[in-house]
Amino acid sequence: MSKQEFPIDQKVQTILNQFIVPKKLLDDGIDLFTKSMDEGLRNPLAGSSFMPMIPSFITKIPTGKEKGLFLACDLGGTNFRVCSVELNGDHTFNLEQLKTKVDHSYMVGDSNNLFNFLSLHVKEFLEVHHDEYLSSNKDNQRLKMSFTFSFPIDQTCINRGKLIRWTKGYDVKDAVGQDVIKLFQYTLDQHKLPVDLVAITNDTVGTLLANSYVSNTSNQTLIGAIYGTGTNGCYIESLDNIKKLKPETVEKLKSKGQNYMVINTEWGSFDNRLQCLPNTKYDEILDSETPNQGYHMFEKRISGMFLGEILRLVLIDLNQKNLLLTEFYCSEKNDKPITLPHRLLRPWAFQTEVLSKLEIDDSTDLKISKLCYDNDLRLETTLEDRRIIQKVVKAVSKRAAYLSAIPIAAIILQQNDGKPPKEEIQVGADGAVIEFYPEFKEHIMEALRLTELTEAGAGKIKFTIAKDGSGVGAALCSKTAETLSQNNTS
Ligand code: BGC
Ligand code: MG
Repeated sequence: MSKQEFPIDQKVQTILNQFIVPKKLLDDGIDLFTKSMDEGLRNPLAGSSFMPMIPSFITKIPTGKEKGLFLACDLGGTNFRVCSVELNGDHTFNLEQLKTKVDHSYMVGDSNNLFNFLSLHVKEFLEVHHDEYLSSNKDNQRLKMSFTFSFPIDQTCINRGKLIRWTKGYDVKDAVGQDVIKLFQYTLDQHKLPVDLVAITNDTVGTLLANSYVSNTSNQTLIGAIYGTGTNGCYIESLDNIKKLKPETVEKLKSKGQNYMVINTEWGSFDNRLQCLPNTKYDEILDSETPNQGYHMFEKRISGMFLGEILRLVLIDLNQKNLLLTEFYCSEKNDKPITLPHRLLRPWAFQTEVLSKLEIDDSTDLKISKLCYDNDLRLETTLEDRRIIQKVVKAVSKRAAYLSAIPIAAIILQQNDGKPPKEEIQVGADGAVIEFYPEFKEHIMEALRLTELTEAGAGKIKFTIAKDGSGVGAALCSKTAETLSQNNTS
């Protein structure tokens, strides 16, 4: 039995329609993305009209046979993790980790404050798991650690990278333009920790490497993608196409039989000039609330940090237009002016988890959502309100998933001379949105089928979730760093 549709106010519908992503937008987006990739591969400096397309200096893809014990740490939009990873050489691994939420105060203070906090956490991890290297380390043995840093950097080799700008709400101003490895190593040294940072990598690169390591099919993982607090992707590009690399660098790599490199696209910054992305007034307000205004405009329509805020802005607008929550919170209908509760008027009040709950509720009269409003949001709603809010949630999340198809389609088409692929293509993905948000992956697939990839080509794309991707991936980067240093000394 199909679910009964309820009539929706025309004015509400007009607002919802602004979130529809038609096929034409997908096609135009793919064209622009392809151009933006090409420009980014030529330009050594990150401009605002194209994507950074950062060379990762990773030129080998794991086979699954790699072995060894590696230390890694990972700073993302929400958490900091330190882990040790044992690669068993048979596509499997063992991982030990210590994870902590990064308090907002570290995201907006100075760099010493942030990196000191990270170093203390590394210390705590060593005390628990590798005590032998601390107090009684007679041989002065040092540990090699790689650093997954999920922000755009200007990377010049495997262990050097200057921060281009912060994203995802971070705003540690004095770190911009600085080599983050140096900043971090300085605080590790201050705590006298026997740790050397040997590699820096992006979480997407880690995800691609981890996926290649665990997968035991012969199909290569082409793309590593994150849909979490932020969004981004990397892919394997042929060296000949990376025009901004120095010719000496290319020649040196080729002489060692290496012909490609993983490129971190930083697709969060796709179409910062809004040539084709939808731009509602809610998107504009949201942008004005962020520290990186005018940048990462694609990410601001897609990832977990932003979906709740878009929803909140729409709800406030609907309420102001007397189209929502008017029964309990409307100045016109009531004698005394009652406005929305203060917490709803505060930016960033909605978490993506709440949206997930509202999205899937198919209970009679949306009773499950009601609990969510009563408990999580402490908001009084009528059934009509709940129905409208659910529509808004679905519109916002579906737009995010549809837009997410643009980079995937563009990269795959670019790698296949503009034709739909005939062989299976793996996309290693990670992040709470793709892992937990209901129907997100399905909606990306739905949109992919509408593109030039056609149904048949889209059918060849397999998303696999690379769990613990950034830890395992970083370990694999240490492995690369090890190989590189052996090559340099030989
Ligand atoms: C950052 C990327 C990162 C992505 C996912 C974005 O905000 O710019 O470097 O890969 O978030 O974590
Ligand atoms: Mg992360």
